[in-house]
Amino acid sequence: KEQHLRKPEWLKIKLNTNEHYTGLKKMMREKQLHTVCEEARCPNIHECWAVRRTATFMILGDVCTRACRFCAVKTGLPTELDWQEPERVAESVRLMNLKHVVVTAVARDDLKDGGAAVFAETVRAIRRKNPLTTIEVLPSDMGGVYENLKALMDARPDILNHNIETVRRLTPRVRARATYERSLEFLRRAKEMQPDIPTKSSLMVGLGETKEEILETMDDLRAVGVNILTIGQYLQPTKKHLKVEKYYHPHEFMELKEIALAKGFSHCESGPLVRSSYHADEQVQSAKAN
Ligand code: SF4
Ligand code: SF4
Repeated sequence: KEQHLRKPEWLKIKLNTNEHYTGLKKMMREKQLHTVCEEARCPNIHECWAVRRTATFMILGDVCTRACRFCAVKTGLPTELDWQEPERVAESVRLMNLKHVVVTAVARDDLKDGGAAVFAETVRAIRRKNPLTTIEVLPSDMGGVYENLKALMDARPDILNHNIETVRRLTPRVRARATYERSLEFLRRAKEMQPDIPTKSSLMVGLGETKEEILETMDDLRAVGVNILTIGQYLQPTKKHLKVEKYYHPHEFMELKEIALAKGFSHCESGPLVRSSYHADEQVQSAKAN
């Protein structure tokens, strides 16, 4: 029988919701939009939406052509491309009065451009309606087709984020359709295309990696010029997903952050509940100042 680790105290938090949040959820349904905040039942939703004024939209549908073993997004045949989606996202950013927005997308391996045209148009639409809002894009590797990445970079997001997710050795188990090398190359090319746009990546820990492997991943990311790193605890979304091998103590997260900064990242968020988009508003500022 599989052994499951018990959740430590620091991960037992209560969802803090209020009327403001209920209103925003209703708007999302009316506009047929999806947020990672809701889909992943992110514990930071109140802090992000109401206090920090940031949110993570998931565009190009809510069905992914891939099935990474840590991710709770549905897998299957994706929906048709929706060219009205960019305007609806832009309008929601305005209604939510967001200071910072993260736009991510399911992997659309069914589309020739990986969804890049709609993705780029979403960045432009948000910019037109919300000139003061900083925009972070979080694409998949877009099939490793760099023209797709170029289309997105040409829309001039404020941050290009692409998640390495896990260490080299575990990548085939965790993200079957992606490769560690391809993600590094993706980040390297993004930096080459627009050197002044900060790049960012995220690592989940607790999947069985060693500390040496984490440090190696940091070095690999620095070698391709990544500026910002986030490190968070992997949590198993359902019993069908990979189980948690280790819960890192908050002290260990602190230590990893110090190591990351010493290695030259301009900003690092590291903690049990840190998600790719957590405190992203601060990262833009610090990366720009660097
Ligand atoms: Fe949404 Fe990211 Fe904030 Fe979670 S951390 S609520 S996913 S913006
Ligand atoms: Fe989830 Fe992204 Fe993997 Fe699709 S590509 S299953 S959305 S992590």
